[in-house]
Amino acid sequence: MLIILTGLPAVGKTTFAKNLAKELSNYDVDVIVLGSDLIRESFPRWKEEYEEFIRVSTLKLIEMAIKKYWVIVDDTNYYNSMRRDLIKICPDNYAIIYLKAPIEEILKRNEERGKKVPDKVIKEMSLKFDEPGKKYSWDKPFLVVDTTKEINYKEIVKSLLLYSKDKKEEKKERSKVSKKDEIDKRTRKIVGEIIKRGLEKERIKELLQLRKEFIKSLKHDDVDKALKEFKDLLNKHNFSL
Ligand code: ADP
Repeated sequence: MLIILTGLPAVGKTTFAKNLAKELSNYDVDVIVLGSDLIRESFPRWKEEYEEFIRVSTLKLIEMAIKKYWVIVDDTNYYNSMRRDLIKICPDNYAIIYLKAPIEEILKRNEERGKKVPDKVIKEMSLKFDEPGKKYSWDKPFLVVDTTKEINYKEIVKSLLLYSKDKKEEKKERSKVSKKDEIDKRTRKIVGEIIKRGLEKERIKELLQLRKEFIKSLKHDDVDKALKEFKDLLNKHNFSL
């Protein structure tokens, strides 16, 4: 599962990400926290022209990691376009967690940690911040966390595990439906080709009925196996393929 954090600098994302990862690991989930600061802080100084490299390489890193682990993205992600780029990596199983606190509290925390980010930048960001879910339904937060209140990590982990399980089942169901559609389409094509080669009216009726019953009684969704079974059935009824 891809967990996308979003919130202003100093709202408490890194603290939240670390605690959430720890709690997830207690439930035996292999999870990694990634964010653009990992790459950004690997440069000895900052330049605007580094930012595109930082953005792309962070996305690549997440893309690699999600194949094996749960990923928590610790970044501000203040534009919905940033969240969209992340969702594209794992569209079937993601959760946006929106961390919030009053701006005065955020500025106070920023002050306390030695103004890592200038106040001016945080204020500007708060004006530009795209409220998650305000414009698009895919952008709706799974959870909104007020970081001035106590955070129950156990509860959050439990709901994430349930949500992820649902999403996995939905995906499985979707793939089942598409496999059934494939079997339907391919058997229809076989029947069409036999008819095209020329058959008596009664035999056409028999062939159509045979396919109908075959699809109805099919108990699995293995495309290759189903096609072999269908062809065997046609052979048995003397339809030449
Ligand atoms: P971000 O990753 O959003 O920039 P951090 O997690 O680094 O924020 O936290 C910024 C500051 O706020 C740190 O000094 C941290 O100790 C403090 N902090 C984080 N979460 C909380 C919280 N829930 N309550 C109080 N202080 C917090």
